[in-house]
Amino acid sequence: MTAGACADEDPNLLAQCADHEALTIVPDIPLTASTEHIEFHVDDTTFLCAGSVIDYERFVQYSAAVLDVELVQRVPVYLFRDVKGYCSETAAACVTPDGTVFTSPIAAAHELAHTVSCGWRSGTSPALSEGLAVSFELTPSQSPTDPREFITAERAADVDYAGAGHFVRWLLEFHGVAPLREAFLTSPRGGGDAVLDALEAAYGQDPESLFAEYEASAPYLWVPHRQCADLERLEPTAGVWAFAATFDCEDPATLGPWVRAFSAYSDSMYQSFLIDVDTPGTYTFERESDTEVWVERCLDDVALSEEDASSMWHKEPVSPLPGAMDVDLAAGIYRVDVLRKHAPPHEVALRIERKP
Ligand SMILES: [Zn+2]
Repeated sequence: MTAGACADEDPNLLAQCADHEALTIVPDIPLTASTEHIEFHVDDTTFLCAGSVIDYERFVQYSAAVLDVELVQRVPVYLFRDVKGYCSETAAACVTPDGTVFTSPIAAAHELAHTVSCGWRSGTSPALSEGLAVSFELTPSQSPTDPREFITAERAADVDYAGAGHFVRWLLEFHGVAPLREAFLTSPRGGGDAVLDALEAAYGQDPESLFAEYEASAPYLWVPHRQCADLERLEPTAGVWAFAATFDCEDPATLGPWVRAFSAYSDSMYQSFLIDVDTPGTYTFERESDTEVWVERCLDDVALSEEDASSMWHKEPVSPLPGAMDVDLAAGIYRVDVLRKHAPPHEVALRIERKP
């Protein structure tokens, strides 16, 4: 028996978001788009293309399947460029107790992961709560750190987010969803040493041995969930991949904003496709000067050692500078993200060819 697991005496503290009354005072922003599980309200400081509406729904369904959560309510999502005035002073985004999301595009995946774990419980210790949300972000997780440094944190501000995300991903991948769920349900919201008791009960081992196991077995880099999911392969013709499309934010083939890296691209809409590179070599990416391109290698193995990461992990922007559009590619499958500034519908073309 553990001391901390019973610290939450108020039954409300164990509630899921769906059990809370919808008390959040929401801004008067009309419904922009809705899916089976999400209602998007997009403020006029930003935008959300039709393809991303579908992609976020897929993201939520995927995360719920991974966490074995049944989604019982539709999540209201308020999307702004800046959430100032809707979340606490220091927060970049937030989810209220009834599951209403206020977020900028760059934090949307993180916040939606919070709302999915709300199907377990509307909150838990700061390290487990933030670690779980970070573990579903769209960027690779490559910061194994000592969990002892953050696991008992009493406030989210004291959590090493990247480290917690890496650790929670390991808990999920190495020990499965059941003990993670139990630890999530039994860890006190205020953190503290009782989190260690909750971990001990959930994992049936002393936290020290759990941390030692993590240190001994954790990979250097976790590949993001759904890294190349739902993308179509572009077939080459006579060795040339010729991409040509209409970028139309209202069309489901176009997504945006692009949020797979830092926020510098928050004004970009995009389309993505896969290429299968048989022959390693230098490839030329030929496109209009206002088209940005990112290439990211799709990997089946989601856990990479430092050595594997240095040889296999590949994600980079194709420089817009003339004469610097060549990228060295090893054999493999790559996702190619083609970005343009958000604008009325227009044609976009890209040609990829191996240099002789
Ligand atoms: Zn968070």
